[in-house]
Amino acid sequence: MKLLEYEGKKILQTSNIAVPKSFVAGESADFLPAVLKSQVPVGGRGKAGGVVIVKDDAEYTAEREKISHLEIKGYTPKTILAEQPLDIDRELYLSLVIDKATASTELMAHKRGGVEVEDNAAEDFLKLTLETGSADAAGQQLADYYDLPDKTFALQDLVEKLYVLFNQQDMTLLEINPLVLTKTGELVAADAKITLDDAAQFRHPDWSFELDPVETNFVTLDETGNVATIANGAGLAMATVDAVADNGMKPANFLDIGGGANEASVLAAFKRITEYSHVKVIIINIFAGITRCDEVARAIIAARAQLDDLPPLAIRLAGTNYEQAAKLLQQQNIPIHANLDQALAAAKELT
Ligand code: GDP
Ligand code: MN
Repeated sequence: MKLLEYEGKKILQTSNIAVPKSFVAGESADFLPAVLKSQVPVGGRGKAGGVVIVKDDAEYTAEREKISHLEIKGYTPKTILAEQPLDIDRELYLSLVIDKATASTELMAHKRGGVEVEDNAAEDFLKLTLETGSADAAGQQLADYYDLPDKTFALQDLVEKLYVLFNQQDMTLLEINPLVLTKTGELVAADAKITLDDAAQFRHPDWSFELDPVETNFVTLDETGNVATIANGAGLAMATVDAVADNGMKPANFLDIGGGANEASVLAAFKRITEYSHVKVIIINIFAGITRCDEVARAIIAARAQLDDLPPLAIRLAGTNYEQAAKLLQQQNIPIHANLDQALAAAKELT
């Protein structure tokens, strides 16, 4: 489950990690100037116009109104965060992530963070494995790498706190981009992107966040995968992932939309998939029993209308309300494949 920036920053604050002073943007501003930030669960808000500095009340009102209607990658915000502007000297990148292959916690860092971080070559990132007791060594390495020797202690402290939070809160991703070095020499988490492990919900009765955990049966397999999958039922979803791999493609995710899937939950799945930048095609494999094919079809049509960057689809549908679904999709000229093999062949063409 993904947290919004303001929710992530609240968690960071519980460990006294520095974040900008802030308020939730209502009718009037608590202080100005302020940076208004759209609270949508996707990156690239800065580039999309979702992060704006406002100087006076007139700007505050106008920009708040504008951002509240600005759609970013299929999301419009319920909440807008307002923060005290930072006097930025440097923007650094820092993240902790679970490496599934080795089942370890990896720290990744880059000297040049901020909105262009994706332009940095993958091999240029500093990568370290974190373990209990390794924060001091990691902080030292980080200070060397960032070329901030006088921040060694602060970075050791930061890594220690992040590592503890990461484990306590069952995170799978904790990304601070940018970690800002201010002109007065403070390190401040200017952005926070946190994903929690849905499977750990049972031991966190306190978890309560703005976004519904609609994608509870969603697992990222490979951020660089070129094929995304949507299926219903855990068995069929696993078989779909295996079939993608067996056909020489790289599955990005596992998703079981479950028996009670409806238009909203399927649409949420599409939105999540569009965040993978390497996906060339989405394979939809539905064998409908309780799930209704026409609901899935409606979600497909809504997703195509709402998401500009939706990859092409390879659809196999069968079962309950198939006829209605076929009619709906046909009206939109969206083809359905008779079986999974045909859908896989169509997908292969696109990868
Ligand atoms: P993202 O684009 O969704 O990752 O949103 P961020 O919260 O990372 O903001 C994008 C960019 O806006 C940052 O990389 C900064 O360059 C800029 N930015 C964010 N907050 C401030 C601020 O307080 N002051 C200034 N000057 N720039 C900011
Ligand atoms: Mn950011």
